[in-house]
Amino acid sequence: MATIQRRKTYTTRIGNVLVGSGAPVMVQSMTNTDTADIASTVQQVAALARAGSEVVRVTVNNDAAAQAVRPIVDELAAQGVHVPIIGDFHYNGHLLLRKYPDCARALAKYRINPGNVSIGRKDDDNFRTMIEVAIENDRPVRIGVNWGSLDQQLLTRMMDENSRLAHPLEARDVMMEAMVVSALRSAELAEEYGLPADHIILSAKVSGVQDLIDVYRNLAARCQYALHLGLTEAGMGAKGIVGSTAGLAVLIQEGIGDTIRVSLTPAPNGDRTEEVFVAQQILQSMGIRSFSPQVTACPGCGRTTSTYFQELAQQIQGYLREMMPEWRTKYDGVEELKLAVMGCIVNGPGESKHANIGISLPGTFEEPKAPVFIDGRLVTTLKGDHIVEEFTHILNDYVENRYSRKPVEAAVKA
Ligand code: SF4
Repeated sequence: MATIQRRKTYTTRIGNVLVGSGAPVMVQSMTNTDTADIASTVQQVAALARAGSEVVRVTVNNDAAAQAVRPIVDELAAQGVHVPIIGDFHYNGHLLLRKYPDCARALAKYRINPGNVSIGRKDDDNFRTMIEVAIENDRPVRIGVNWGSLDQQLLTRMMDENSRLAHPLEARDVMMEAMVVSALRSAELAEEYGLPADHIILSAKVSGVQDLIDVYRNLAARCQYALHLGLTEAGMGAKGIVGSTAGLAVLIQEGIGDTIRVSLTPAPNGDRTEEVFVAQQILQSMGIRSFSPQVTACPGCGRTTSTYFQELAQQIQGYLREMMPEWRTKYDGVEELKLAVMGCIVNGPGESKHANIGISLPGTFEEPKAPVFIDGRLVTTLKGDHIVEEFTHILNDYVENRYSRKPVEAAVKA
Protein backbone atom coordinates (compact mmCIF):
# COMPACT_ATOMS: atom_id res chain seq x y z
CA MET A 1 0.00 0.00 0.00
CA ALA A 2 1.13 3.54 -0.71
CA THR A 3 2.15 5.57 2.33
CA ILE A 4 0.36 8.89 2.16
CA GLN A 5 0.68 11.29 5.06
CA ARG A 6 -2.93 11.84 6.11
CA ARG A 7 -3.94 15.21 7.51
CA LYS A 8 -4.49 14.84 11.25
CA THR A 9 -8.19 15.00 12.17
CA TYR A 10 -10.59 14.07 14.92
CA THR A 11 -11.78 10.50 14.54
CA THR A 12 -15.54 10.01 14.57
CA ARG A 13 -17.61 6.88 15.04
CA ILE A 14 -20.58 6.30 12.72
CA GLY A 15 -22.25 3.20 14.13
CA ASN A 16 -19.48 0.61 14.02
CA VAL A 17 -17.40 2.50 11.44
CA LEU A 18 -14.59 4.92 12.29
CA VAL A 19 -13.96 8.01 10.18
CA GLY A 20 -10.98 10.31 10.41
CA SER A 21 -7.22 10.13 10.27
CA GLY A 22 -7.30 7.27 12.78
CA ALA A 23 -9.11 5.08 10.24
CA PRO A 24 -8.82 4.16 6.55
CA VAL A 25 -10.44 6.49 4.00
CA MET A 26 -14.04 5.26 4.01
CA VAL A 27 -16.36 4.73 1.03
CA GLN A 28 -19.99 5.75 1.25
CA SER A 29 -22.99 6.11 -1.02
CA MET A 30 -26.61 7.19 -1.03
CA THR A 31 -29.87 5.56 -2.10
CA ASN A 32 -32.11 7.06 -4.79
CA THR A 33 -35.25 5.22 -3.75
CA ASP A 34 -38.22 6.85 -2.05
CA THR A 35 -37.30 6.14 1.57
CA ALA A 36 -40.98 5.60 2.40
CA ASP A 37 -40.86 2.62 0.03
CA ILE A 38 -39.34 0.34 2.63
CA ALA A 39 -38.88 -2.74 0.45
CA SER A 40 -37.08 -0.87 -2.36
CA THR A 41 -34.91 1.07 0.06
CA VAL A 42 -33.91 -2.06 1.97
CA GLN A 43 -33.05 -3.76 -1.30
CA GLN A 44 -30.90 -0.89 -2.50
CA VAL A 45 -29.14 -0.33 0.82
CA ALA A 46 -28.33 -4.06 0.96
CA ALA A 47 -26.99 -3.96 -2.61
CA LEU A 48 -24.83 -0.90 -1.85
CA ALA A 49 -23.54 -2.51 1.35
CA ARG A 50 -22.76 -5.76 -0.46
CA ALA A 51 -20.87 -3.77 -3.10
CA GLY A 52 -18.76 -2.34 -0.27
CA SER A 53 -20.40 0.92 0.79
CA GLU A 54 -19.37 1.23 4.43
CA VAL A 55 -22.21 3.58 5.37
CA VAL A 56 -25.32 4.42 3.33
CA ARG A 57 -27.27 7.69 3.36
CA VAL A 58 -31.02 7.87 2.82
CA THR A 59 -33.24 10.89 2.22
CA VAL A 60 -35.43 11.78 5.20
CA ASN A 61 -37.66 14.46 3.73
CA ASN A 62 -41.15 13.91 5.15
CA ASP A 63 -43.19 12.07 7.77
CA ALA A 64 -43.47 8.89 5.73
CA ALA A 65 -39.71 8.74 5.17
CA ALA A 66 -38.98 9.40 8.86
CA GLN A 67 -41.44 6.67 9.89
CA ALA A 68 -39.82 4.24 7.45
CA VAL A 69 -36.30 4.57 8.87
CA ARG A 70 -36.70 2.21 11.85
CA PRO A 71 -38.38 -0.57 9.82
CA ILE A 72 -35.63 -0.23 7.18
CA VAL A 73 -32.86 -0.61 9.77
CA ASP A 74 -34.66 -3.55 11.42
CA GLU A 75 -35.29 -5.34 8.14
CA LEU A 76 -31.66 -4.88 7.10
CA ALA A 77 -30.53 -6.34 10.43
CA ALA A 78 -32.89 -9.30 9.92
CA GLN A 79 -31.12 -9.86 6.58
CA GLY A 80 -27.73 -9.69 8.29
CA VAL A 81 -26.91 -6.24 6.84
CA HIS A 82 -25.55 -4.01 9.59
CA VAL A 83 -24.37 -1.04 7.56
CA PRO A 84 -24.85 2.30 9.41
CA ILE A 85 -27.67 4.39 7.92
CA ILE A 86 -27.29 8.16 7.68
CA GLY A 87 -30.26 10.52 7.46
CA ASP A 88 -30.07 13.30 4.88
CA PHE A 89 -32.10 16.29 6.12
CA HIS A 90 -33.04 19.55 4.46
CA TYR A 91 -35.46 22.26 5.64
CA ASN A 92 -37.49 20.17 8.10
CA GLY A 93 -34.91 17.99 9.88
CA HIS A 94 -35.58 19.70 13.22
CA LEU A 95 -39.28 18.84 12.99
CA LEU A 96 -38.82 15.24 11.84
CA LEU A 97 -36.10 14.35 14.34
CA ARG A 98 -38.21 15.66 17.25
CA LYS A 99 -41.47 14.18 16.01
CA TYR A 100 -39.95 10.74 15.35
CA PRO A 101 -37.44 9.95 18.11
CA ASP A 102 -37.22 6.35 16.93
CA CYS A 103 -35.99 7.60 13.56
CA ALA A 104 -33.40 9.74 15.36
CA ARG A 105 -32.21 6.67 17.29
CA ALA A 106 -32.19 4.36 14.27
CA LEU A 107 -29.94 6.69 12.27
CA ALA A 108 -26.19 6.49 12.87
CA LYS A 109 -25.49 10.06 11.72
CA TYR A 110 -27.41 13.14 10.58
CA ARG A 111 -26.44 15.22 7.58
CA ILE A 112 -27.31 18.90 7.95
CA ASN A 113 -27.08 21.40 5.11
CA PRO A 114 -26.36 24.83 6.64
CA GLY A 115 -27.71 26.50 3.51
CA ASN A 116 -31.25 25.49 4.28
CA VAL A 117 -31.46 25.61 8.04
CA SER A 118 -31.83 28.82 9.91
CA ILE A 119 -28.22 29.55 10.85
CA GLY A 120 -27.43 33.23 11.15
CA ARG A 121 -31.05 34.26 11.46
CA LYS A 122 -32.50 35.53 14.67
CA ASP A 123 -34.30 32.30 15.30
CA ASP A 124 -31.89 29.46 14.56
CA ASP A 125 -34.03 26.78 16.21
CA ASN A 126 -33.84 24.55 13.19
CA PHE A 127 -30.07 23.98 13.33
CA ARG A 128 -29.92 24.11 17.12
CA THR A 129 -32.66 21.49 17.48
CA MET A 130 -30.87 19.08 15.15
CA ILE A 131 -27.65 19.49 17.10
CA GLU A 132 -29.50 18.93 20.39
CA VAL A 133 -31.04 15.72 19.05
CA ALA A 134 -27.58 14.59 17.94
CA ILE A 135 -26.22 15.26 21.44
CA GLU A 136 -29.13 13.45 23.13
CA ASN A 137 -28.57 10.39 20.93
CA ASP A 138 -24.78 10.63 20.91
CA ARG A 139 -24.74 10.81 17.10
CA PRO A 140 -22.24 12.54 14.85
CA VAL A 141 -23.37 15.05 12.25
CA ARG A 142 -22.04 15.96 8.87
CA ILE A 143 -22.31 19.62 8.17
CA GLY A 144 -22.54 19.46 4.42
CA VAL A 145 -22.28 22.71 2.50
CA ASN A 146 -23.24 22.54 -1.13
CA TRP A 147 -22.68 25.39 -3.54
CA GLY A 148 -26.13 24.85 -5.04
CA SER A 149 -27.72 25.63 -1.69
CA LEU A 150 -25.15 27.93 -0.10
CA ASP A 151 -26.40 30.20 2.72
CA GLN A 152 -27.54 33.17 0.61
CA GLN A 153 -27.48 35.64 3.49
CA LEU A 154 -23.85 34.82 4.20
CA LEU A 155 -22.89 34.96 0.54
CA THR A 156 -24.60 38.31 0.01
CA ARG A 157 -22.87 39.79 3.05
CA MET A 158 -19.47 38.53 1.93
CA MET A 159 -20.02 39.79 -1.62
CA ASP A 160 -20.98 43.23 -0.24
CA GLU A 161 -17.90 43.34 2.00
CA ASN A 162 -15.72 42.28 -0.90
CA SER A 163 -17.11 44.99 -3.18
CA ARG A 164 -16.06 47.62 -0.66
CA LEU A 165 -12.43 46.48 -0.69
CA ALA A 166 -9.81 48.52 -2.55
CA HIS A 167 -8.87 45.37 -4.48
CA PRO A 168 -11.93 43.11 -4.53
CA LEU A 169 -11.53 39.39 -5.13
CA GLU A 170 -13.14 37.61 -8.06
CA ALA A 171 -16.75 36.60 -7.35
CA ARG A 172 -15.71 32.94 -7.69
CA ASP A 173 -13.10 33.32 -4.94
CA VAL A 174 -15.63 34.98 -2.63
CA MET A 175 -18.01 32.12 -3.25
CA MET A 176 -15.36 29.49 -2.43
CA GLU A 177 -14.49 31.41 0.75
CA ALA A 178 -18.20 31.59 1.64
CA MET A 179 -18.43 27.79 1.39
CA VAL A 180 -15.55 27.39 3.82
CA VAL A 181 -16.87 30.06 6.18
CA SER A 182 -20.34 28.51 6.14
CA ALA A 183 -18.94 25.08 7.08
CA LEU A 184 -16.59 26.39 9.77
CA ARG A 185 -19.11 28.77 11.30
CA SER A 186 -21.74 26.04 11.49
CA ALA A 187 -19.26 23.68 13.13
CA GLU A 188 -18.33 26.36 15.65
CA LEU A 189 -22.00 26.89 16.46
CA ALA A 190 -22.56 23.14 16.85
CA GLU A 191 -19.67 23.03 19.34
CA GLU A 192 -21.13 26.03 21.18
CA TYR A 193 -24.41 24.09 21.50
CA GLY A 194 -22.47 21.22 23.06
CA LEU A 195 -21.64 18.80 20.23
CA PRO A 196 -18.10 17.46 20.70
CA ALA A 197 -15.63 18.30 17.93
CA ASP A 198 -15.06 14.61 17.26
CA HIS A 199 -18.76 14.27 16.39
CA ILE A 200 -18.47 16.68 13.47
CA ILE A 201 -17.59 15.89 9.87
CA LEU A 202 -17.48 18.64 7.27
CA SER A 203 -18.01 18.70 3.54
CA ALA A 204 -18.11 21.55 1.01
CA LYS A 205 -19.20 20.18 -2.32
CA VAL A 206 -18.95 21.90 -5.66
CA SER A 207 -19.28 20.54 -9.18
CA GLY A 208 -16.02 21.85 -10.70
CA VAL A 209 -12.78 19.95 -10.21
CA GLN A 210 -10.51 22.97 -9.63
CA ASP A 211 -13.09 24.53 -7.29
CA LEU A 212 -13.27 21.29 -5.33
CA ILE A 213 -9.51 21.15 -4.89
CA ASP A 214 -9.32 24.81 -3.82
CA VAL A 215 -12.19 24.68 -1.37
CA TYR A 216 -10.99 21.51 0.37
CA ARG A 217 -7.37 22.65 0.58
CA ASN A 218 -8.65 25.78 2.26
CA LEU A 219 -10.98 23.90 4.59
CA ALA A 220 -8.30 21.36 5.51
CA ALA A 221 -5.85 24.11 6.44
CA ARG A 222 -8.33 25.80 8.77
CA CYS A 223 -9.76 22.99 10.89
CA GLN A 224 -9.17 19.57 12.31
CA TYR A 225 -12.59 18.08 11.59
CA ALA A 226 -12.76 14.90 9.51
CA LEU A 227 -13.67 15.74 5.91
CA HIS A 228 -16.09 14.04 3.55
CA LEU A 229 -15.07 14.50 -0.10
CA GLY A 230 -17.14 14.38 -3.21
CA LEU A 231 -17.71 16.23 -6.43
CA THR A 232 -21.39 17.09 -6.31
CA GLU A 233 -23.59 16.43 -9.33
CA ALA A 234 -20.63 14.75 -11.03
CA GLY A 235 -22.84 13.62 -13.90
CA MET A 236 -23.17 10.50 -15.98
CA GLY A 237 -20.74 7.90 -17.25
CA ALA A 238 -17.20 8.88 -18.18
CA LYS A 239 -17.70 12.55 -17.27
CA GLY A 240 -18.78 11.74 -13.74
CA ILE A 241 -16.11 9.12 -13.21
CA VAL A 242 -13.24 11.17 -14.64
CA GLY A 243 -14.28 14.40 -12.90
CA SER A 244 -14.63 12.71 -9.53
CA THR A 245 -11.36 10.85 -9.94
CA ALA A 246 -9.45 13.96 -11.02
CA GLY A 247 -10.66 15.98 -8.03
CA LEU A 248 -10.54 13.32 -5.34
CA ALA A 249 -7.17 11.89 -6.38
CA VAL A 250 -5.38 15.23 -6.02
CA LEU A 251 -6.83 15.81 -2.54
CA ILE A 252 -6.32 12.27 -1.31
CA GLN A 253 -2.72 12.36 -2.50
CA GLU A 254 -2.25 15.45 -0.30
CA GLY A 255 -3.68 13.54 2.68
CA ILE A 256 -7.00 15.40 2.58
CA GLY A 257 -10.23 13.41 2.88
CA ASP A 258 -11.44 10.83 5.36
CA THR A 259 -14.53 9.56 3.57
CA ILE A 260 -15.53 9.77 -0.09
CA ARG A 261 -18.56 9.47 -2.27
CA VAL A 262 -18.69 9.45 -6.06
CA SER A 263 -22.01 11.08 -6.98
CA LEU A 264 -22.71 9.48 -10.34
CA THR A 265 -26.00 9.93 -12.13
CA PRO A 266 -27.04 6.41 -13.07
CA ALA A 267 -28.69 5.72 -16.41
CA PRO A 268 -32.47 5.21 -16.06
CA ASN A 269 -32.85 1.92 -14.18
CA GLY A 270 -29.05 1.78 -14.06
CA ASP A 271 -27.07 0.16 -11.30
CA ARG A 272 -26.61 2.42 -8.27
CA THR A 273 -23.73 0.28 -6.99
CA GLU A 274 -21.50 1.56 -9.79
CA GLU A 275 -20.64 4.63 -7.71
CA VAL A 276 -19.35 2.37 -4.95
CA PHE A 277 -17.09 0.44 -7.32
CA VAL A 278 -15.73 3.71 -8.75
CA ALA A 279 -14.97 5.10 -5.28
CA GLN A 280 -13.23 1.87 -4.31
CA GLN A 281 -11.31 1.85 -7.56
CA ILE A 282 -10.01 5.37 -6.97
CA LEU A 283 -8.57 4.32 -3.60
CA GLN A 284 -7.30 0.99 -4.88
CA SER A 285 -5.67 2.47 -8.01
CA MET A 286 -3.86 4.95 -5.76
CA GLY A 287 -2.60 2.08 -3.61
CA ILE A 288 -4.41 3.37 -0.52
CA ARG A 289 -6.83 0.51 0.17
CA SER A 290 -7.63 -2.82 -1.43
CA PHE A 291 -11.23 -3.85 -1.97
CA SER A 292 -11.30 -6.31 -4.80
CA PRO A 293 -8.97 -8.38 -7.00
CA GLN A 294 -7.68 -6.34 -9.91
CA VAL A 295 -7.82 -7.47 -13.51
CA THR A 296 -5.12 -6.14 -15.82
CA ALA A 297 -6.30 -6.37 -19.40
CA CYS A 298 -4.61 -5.03 -22.50
CA PRO A 299 -6.58 -2.60 -24.66
CA GLY A 300 -6.46 -4.88 -27.69
CA CYS A 301 -5.17 -3.80 -31.10
CA GLY A 302 -4.92 -5.02 -34.68
CA ARG A 303 -3.48 -8.28 -33.41
CA THR A 304 -6.81 -9.21 -31.82
CA THR A 305 -9.45 -9.51 -34.49
CA SER A 306 -12.07 -11.12 -32.27
CA THR A 307 -13.74 -9.80 -29.13
CA TYR A 308 -12.95 -13.01 -27.29
CA PHE A 309 -10.37 -11.63 -24.88
CA GLN A 310 -12.55 -8.58 -24.10
CA GLU A 311 -15.41 -10.93 -23.28
CA LEU A 312 -13.15 -13.04 -21.10
CA ALA A 313 -11.87 -9.99 -19.20
CA GLN A 314 -15.46 -8.79 -18.71
CA GLN A 315 -16.66 -12.21 -17.56
CA ILE A 316 -13.84 -12.51 -15.07
CA GLN A 317 -14.48 -9.00 -13.75
CA GLY A 318 -18.18 -9.85 -13.37
CA TYR A 319 -17.34 -13.14 -11.66
CA LEU A 320 -15.08 -11.35 -9.17
CA ARG A 321 -17.82 -8.82 -8.31
CA GLU A 322 -20.29 -11.62 -7.83
CA MET A 323 -17.97 -13.63 -5.60
CA MET A 324 -16.40 -10.86 -3.52
CA PRO A 325 -19.19 -10.47 -0.92
CA GLU A 326 -18.74 -14.18 -0.08
CA TRP A 327 -14.95 -14.29 -0.55
CA ARG A 328 -14.50 -11.30 1.73
CA THR A 329 -15.99 -13.29 4.61
CA LYS A 330 -13.98 -16.45 3.90
CA TYR A 331 -10.60 -15.44 2.55
CA ASP A 332 -8.13 -13.06 4.15
CA GLY A 333 -6.26 -10.84 1.70
CA VAL A 334 -8.16 -12.01 -1.41
CA GLU A 335 -8.70 -8.34 -2.35
CA GLU A 336 -4.94 -8.17 -3.09
CA LEU A 337 -5.21 -10.80 -5.85
CA LYS A 338 -3.99 -9.66 -9.27
CA LEU A 339 -5.18 -11.19 -12.54
CA ALA A 340 -4.05 -10.52 -16.09
CA VAL A 341 -6.09 -11.18 -19.23
CA MET A 342 -3.99 -10.40 -22.27
CA GLY A 343 -4.79 -10.41 -25.97
CA CYS A 344 -1.68 -11.84 -27.62
CA ILE A 345 1.88 -13.03 -27.26
CA VAL A 346 3.52 -9.58 -27.46
CA ASN A 347 2.89 -8.49 -23.86
CA GLY A 348 0.71 -11.41 -22.78
CA PRO A 349 3.22 -13.77 -21.17
CA GLY A 350 5.23 -10.90 -19.64
CA GLU A 351 2.24 -9.20 -18.05
CA SER A 352 0.75 -12.55 -17.01
CA LYS A 353 3.93 -13.41 -15.14
CA HIS A 354 3.60 -10.24 -13.03
CA ALA A 355 0.10 -11.24 -11.91
CA ASN A 356 -0.90 -13.94 -9.44
CA ILE A 357 -2.80 -15.60 -12.27
CA GLY A 358 -2.44 -14.57 -15.86
CA ILE A 359 -3.78 -15.84 -19.14
CA SER A 360 -2.38 -14.90 -22.52
CA LEU A 361 -4.94 -15.49 -25.24
CA PRO A 362 -3.98 -16.15 -28.84
CA GLY A 363 -3.88 -13.16 -31.17
CA THR A 364 -4.67 -13.32 -34.89
CA PHE A 365 -2.68 -16.03 -36.68
CA GLU A 366 -1.32 -17.37 -33.38
CA GLU A 367 -1.81 -20.98 -32.41
CA PRO A 368 -5.27 -21.29 -30.70
CA LYS A 369 -4.01 -21.92 -27.20
CA ALA A 370 -3.80 -19.84 -24.03
CA PRO A 371 -0.92 -20.31 -21.61
CA VAL A 372 -1.82 -19.74 -17.95
CA PHE A 373 0.75 -18.48 -15.47
CA ILE A 374 0.46 -18.77 -11.71
CA ASP A 375 2.82 -16.69 -9.59
CA GLY A 376 5.09 -16.23 -12.59
CA ARG A 377 5.27 -19.88 -13.64
CA LEU A 378 3.62 -21.45 -16.67
CA VAL A 379 1.32 -24.10 -15.20
CA THR A 380 -0.95 -25.12 -18.04
CA THR A 381 -2.13 -24.24 -21.50
CA LEU A 382 -5.86 -24.03 -22.18
CA LYS A 383 -7.49 -24.68 -25.57
CA GLY A 384 -10.90 -25.40 -27.00
CA ASP A 385 -14.34 -24.09 -26.15
CA HIS A 386 -14.18 -24.15 -22.35
CA ILE A 387 -11.36 -21.74 -21.60
CA VAL A 388 -13.57 -19.51 -19.41
CA GLU A 389 -14.83 -22.38 -17.25
CA GLU A 390 -11.35 -23.88 -16.91
CA PHE A 391 -9.81 -20.53 -16.06
CA THR A 392 -12.52 -19.89 -13.45
CA HIS A 393 -11.76 -23.29 -11.96
CA ILE A 394 -8.06 -22.41 -11.71
CA LEU A 395 -8.99 -19.08 -10.12
CA ASN A 396 -11.24 -20.72 -7.50
CA ASP A 397 -8.55 -23.26 -6.59
CA TYR A 398 -5.96 -20.53 -6.24
CA VAL A 399 -8.18 -18.43 -3.98
CA GLU A 400 -9.09 -21.44 -1.84
CA ASN A 401 -5.47 -22.56 -1.43
CA ARG A 402 -3.86 -19.19 -0.97
CA TYR A 403 -6.34 -17.15 1.04
CA SER A 404 -8.29 -19.63 3.16
CA ARG A 405 -8.46 -18.50 6.74
CA LYS A 406 -6.25 -20.72 8.90
CA PRO A 407 -8.10 -22.44 11.74
CA VAL A 408 -7.25 -20.58 14.96
CA GLU A 409 -5.35 -23.56 16.43
CA ALA A 410 -3.19 -24.01 13.33
CA ALA A 411 -2.57 -20.29 13.13
CA VAL A 412 -1.39 -20.21 16.76
CA LYS A 413 1.03 -23.16 16.20
CA ALA A 414 2.37 -21.54 13.02
S1 SF4 B 1 -0.90 -7.56 -25.74
FE1 SF4 B 1 -1.10 -7.96 -27.91
S2 SF4 B 1 -3.26 -7.67 -28.36
FE2 SF4 B 1 -2.89 -6.68 -26.40
S3 SF4 B 1 -2.49 -4.57 -26.97
FE3 SF4 B 1 -0.50 -5.60 -26.78
S4 SF4 B 1 -0.01 -6.25 -28.87
FE4 SF4 B 1 -2.20 -5.76 -28.85
